[in-house]
Amino acid sequence: MTARRDLLKGAAALGLARHLPGQAQSPAATATTAASTPARSWQNWSGIAACTPRQWLLPADEAELARLLPKSPGPLRSVGAGHSFTALVPTSGSLVSLDRLTWLVAVDKARNQVRVRAGTRIGQLARLLDAEGLALHNQPDIDVQTLAGALATGTHGTGAELPALHAQVLGLRLVTPAGEVLEISADRNPELLDAARVSLGALGVVSEYTLAVRPRYMLRRHVWIAPTQELLEQAPELARKHRHFEMYVLPFTGHGAGITHDEVPAGTPEHPASADENVLADLRKLRDWLGRWPELRRWTAAKLIAGSQPEHALDWSWRLLSAVRPTRFNESEYHLPRERGIACLREIVQTLERRNEVFFPIEFRFVQGDSAWLSPFHGRDSCSVACHALQGEAYDYLVKDLGPVFRRHGGRPHWGKLHDLAAPQLQALYPRFAEFQALRRRLDPEGRLLNPHLAALFGGAHA
Ligand SMILES: Cc1cc2nc3c(=O)[nH]c(=O)nc-3n(C[C@H](O)[C@H](O)[C@H](O)COP(=O)(O)OP(=O)(O)OC[C@H]3O[C@@H](n4cnc5c(N)ncnc54)[C@H](O)[C@@H]3O)c2cc1C
Repeated sequence: MTARRDLLKGAAALGLARHLPGQAQSPAATATTAASTPARSWQNWSGIAACTPRQWLLPADEAELARLLPKSPGPLRSVGAGHSFTALVPTSGSLVSLDRLTWLVAVDKARNQVRVRAGTRIGQLARLLDAEGLALHNQPDIDVQTLAGALATGTHGTGAELPALHAQVLGLRLVTPAGEVLEISADRNPELLDAARVSLGALGVVSEYTLAVRPRYMLRRHVWIAPTQELLEQAPELARKHRHFEMYVLPFTGHGAGITHDEVPAGTPEHPASADENVLADLRKLRDWLGRWPELRRWTAAKLIAGSQPEHALDWSWRLLSAVRPTRFNESEYHLPRERGIACLREIVQTLERRNEVFFPIEFRFVQGDSAWLSPFHGRDSCSVACHALQGEAYDYLVKDLGPVFRRHGGRPHWGKLHDLAAPQLQALYPRFAEFQALRRRLDPEGRLLNPHLAALFGGAHA
């Protein structure tokens, strides 16, 4: 039997590797480290968005932030952990980082609520909550994002009855470009809450959130590999039965991985090391060795996958729901109406398999709808399809070839992942878009928060 993490060990044993052509690595991923960039420049995680701002603002507290914003040159753009792929952050003016505004401010265990500074990283928050016997309702794939950055773009995990993270925002404090501090909650300016939950940093800088949390909980994970067709047929039922269900289609293999997480009573954690990076490396080797012979690639993959065994883990929610992603990539993700998800995924897999260089698993998740005006899940339960290309390799097709497929199925793009939509299309996709625009103009009449990417999203600098 072959464990999932050892997909290609069998190939070596068969002596197959020696006979495979082109074993040299495909274009190397050029990992970028902060140390290798000039002191004042900034770039995102994958290196495709960059800027050299005139100044960085690193306020020590909200009062300092409110003093700095009115007198700093625009565009005023907030940056979190730089894990968005779209050009939301770059500015030639002032880059605002809340790296000094972190940590819990208050914990109300009786009401399962916390106040937390907006620069806190999700992973840091998860640990702080755990120490209080609390946890987030759900988490995304990674946890290094700042809370503000994740919420601003509608970041989500998976779960048919679990909404994206911003649905847990009960209140927030927003500092406008004029330096005014707005408190927004069910009691104060309640009409702004759904506008400010997902704001792309276009309304001001959020300094603090009040979040709904819950008592900490353990999850049991089950991972298995099955024919893609079988997983696609079972997906709606699996999503109904399990607290979290997601699947990854492994391109050019005819197979996919199903992953469920279910809440269980606390027990002794058993958490085998993640196999994700090994599987990714194996899929890449198959691509590098057999990419020019898709049928042989499929046949080899099927043979190697045939004996893979399911994996189990048991641990606290925050330890299982988020992982690390050492291999860097570029990504596009769209959110489809729930009933269109599977049909869209099928078409996306077909489209991607026309390109032999593709090897990244295609991620399929479930997200419950919510009411935030710019939430990609606004008013509808959704499925999400995410596609990746290795850092340093071509990624234009994620937008050019996949975008039209996603849009035919009524998809809304993840704000932080690659897409080429602008104001006219967004207006048609978001019923409250015009109201968001009106509020944005009221809070930022001179358009000081707009960089070129936001100007395109909102239809021209002062439109
Ligand atoms: C490896 C990887 C895995 C990912 N996994 C997932 C996933 O599972 N699910 C998912 O939905 N997404 C995922 N993402 C996308 C990611 O969660 C979002 O792009 C998120 O916005 C990144 O947060 P950040 O802190 O890096 O923010 P940044 O990318 O730095 O900024 C994002 C936006 O937030 C705004 N912003 C930042 N701070 C503030 C503030 N204080 N006030 C107002 N606006 C602010 C910025 O101006 C910008 O518009 C992933 C990305 C990567 C690279």
